[in-house]
Amino acid sequence: MTRNALGIMLFIVVVTGFSAIVGWVGFTTALQPIADRGRADLSLAAGRLTSGLQQFRQAAVLLADHPDLLAVAAAQRDPAVAEAVLLEASDKLGTLEIFLTDAAGQVLASSTPEHNENVATAPYFERAMQGALGSYHAQLSGTGQRVFYFSAPMLEGAAAFGAVVVKVDLEAVEESDWRGGAQAIYFVDEAGVVFVSNRSELLLRVRQEGADLTPAGYESATLQPFFDFSAYSVAGHDLWVVDAGRYIPVRALHLVQPLPVIGMTGEVLISTAQAERIALLQAAVAAALCLTFGAIWYVATMRRNTLSERLALEAQTNARLEARVIERTHELSEVNLSLRNEIKEREEAELRLKKAQADLVQAGKLSALGEMSAGISHELNQPLMAIQNFAENAEVFLARGKVDVAGSNLNRISDLARRMGRIIKNLRAFSRQESEPISDVDLCAVVEAALVVGESRLQQGQVTIDWKRPDRPVIVRGGEVRLQQVVLNLVTNAADAMEGQENKQIIISLSQQADKVFLAVKDSGPGLDDPEKIFDPFYTTKAVGRAEGMGLGLSISYGLVQSFGGQIRGRNHAGGGAIFTVELAASKKEETA
Ligand code: ADP
Repeated sequence: MTRNALGIMLFIVVVTGFSAIVGWVGFTTALQPIADRGRADLSLAAGRLTSGLQQFRQAAVLLADHPDLLAVAAAQRDPAVAEAVLLEASDKLGTLEIFLTDAAGQVLASSTPEHNENVATAPYFERAMQGALGSYHAQLSGTGQRVFYFSAPMLEGAAAFGAVVVKVDLEAVEESDWRGGAQAIYFVDEAGVVFVSNRSELLLRVRQEGADLTPAGYESATLQPFFDFSAYSVAGHDLWVVDAGRYIPVRALHLVQPLPVIGMTGEVLISTAQAERIALLQAAVAAALCLTFGAIWYVATMRRNTLSERLALEAQTNARLEARVIERTHELSEVNLSLRNEIKEREEAELRLKKAQADLVQAGKLSALGEMSAGISHELNQPLMAIQNFAENAEVFLARGKVDVAGSNLNRISDLARRMGRIIKNLRAFSRQESEPISDVDLCAVVEAALVVGESRLQQGQVTIDWKRPDRPVIVRGGEVRLQQVVLNLVTNAADAMEGQENKQIIISLSQQADKVFLAVKDSGPGLDDPEKIFDPFYTTKAVGRAEGMGLGLSISYGLVQSFGGQIRGRNHAGGGAIFTVELAASKKEETA
């Protein structure tokens, strides 16, 4: 913006300078024809003035040869004769006066009556006495009229014995000739006084600086100094700036022409207004042309600039966009990397969780095992005592020869031993780290095995089990021992919940819908405090610190059932108590089994 403004200002300065030069050249060129015209006008005016005055000189010369006047000058006739001649001549020529003098300067006869002065000291008379034509100009004392005198001698041999003097009022000459011409023309005499002019305001001004303001022949009171002016020389021309009223141009070309015939210098002041107008016009045209071309150039440059600015802006925007894309790509790849890391971490965490879960299962089992060990030892003790009794009795019966009874005793022993073996097998399997694959399992057998393991706990709590066993096997997909663990947990929880109440009943039932099998364990206990939380690890309402109150049973069961592709749910039953449902996939082979 500032650069633009500076450029425009510089351009305007250059255009102004250029126009000024064009104007100056135009002005000086236009001065030449003005000077030529002025010079012609001045010589014309000078010619007119001199020729206008010349006739009076000729009249003086002719009158000097007039016989009547010669006779009067020679004092041979009465001056009255001459007076009539002079008056007639004066009237015809329109002069102020014509008079005749003798050699002493005494006026002998005049066109003006009773003019008898002696003009012996007048310069024009002196010239005539020298035998030459005299001329002189002066102001008349009293009237201040400007007059020209022309004298012609009357000669006898080389000596002059008289003179004829013609006295002309200059105003009459000016009026008849050239007053008020187009140019201000004036004639300055040797004393430096403007004696003749076509501008009245210039008359009787003393042109030369420092000249005598009281020259001879002038009424000094009527003289004035010349107007102040300043002069310049321009291309060989003399230019004036002058303030001399409305009829004199303020700025003028000043020309000079000497007029030795009448002893004066002609000067003219021509207005330079026309040259100025021409110069101004040329400068204006030059400026207009420059400005027009400048404006066109400026608009074109601005357009080009705007275009290149727009291109630069677009390039900038593109670069910014590319940078953004690169940045975003970088960010995305970083996010990608961190996502991959996160996935890796998650996978690791999952692995750790699985491991922890497996550990928990094991821990849960051990805890259950501890809980059950008392009951189990009691469980094993009972058949062991029975076996001992049956064996001792069989020994006695054998001694008595009652082989049948001893045989039935041995059968009972063998049953008991099988029962003990079954209990031990269950316990072993239960405590072992389970890794058996998912297979077809008879859910009825699972429920019964779990009831056998939990039997002592149930008996101890006097819990009635209502096991609605179906009349045929219900085969599901799962792990036998792990399913047992789930069922045992549900039954034990139910027994725990009903502790201290009168009626303790657990109903276990199985049902099937399409390819789904549902195992329901319902109790007559107080129900669930917070059904939303029961599957959370370590959620327990049982006394903290006790082996049975770890809050892990249901969360482990949840994980186990899910690993079989099934679901476990717990809710409060409308008729009171809690009901847990285990949903499992039915075996495809079941139909054939
Ligand atoms: P724990 O038995 O060690 O408390 P569980 O995960 O097995 O841990 O059970 C969590 C909680 O669920 C129990 O503390 C109990 O509050 C509630 N619960 C489970 N089964 C029942 C039920 N049959 N009746 C009432 N509450 C139950």
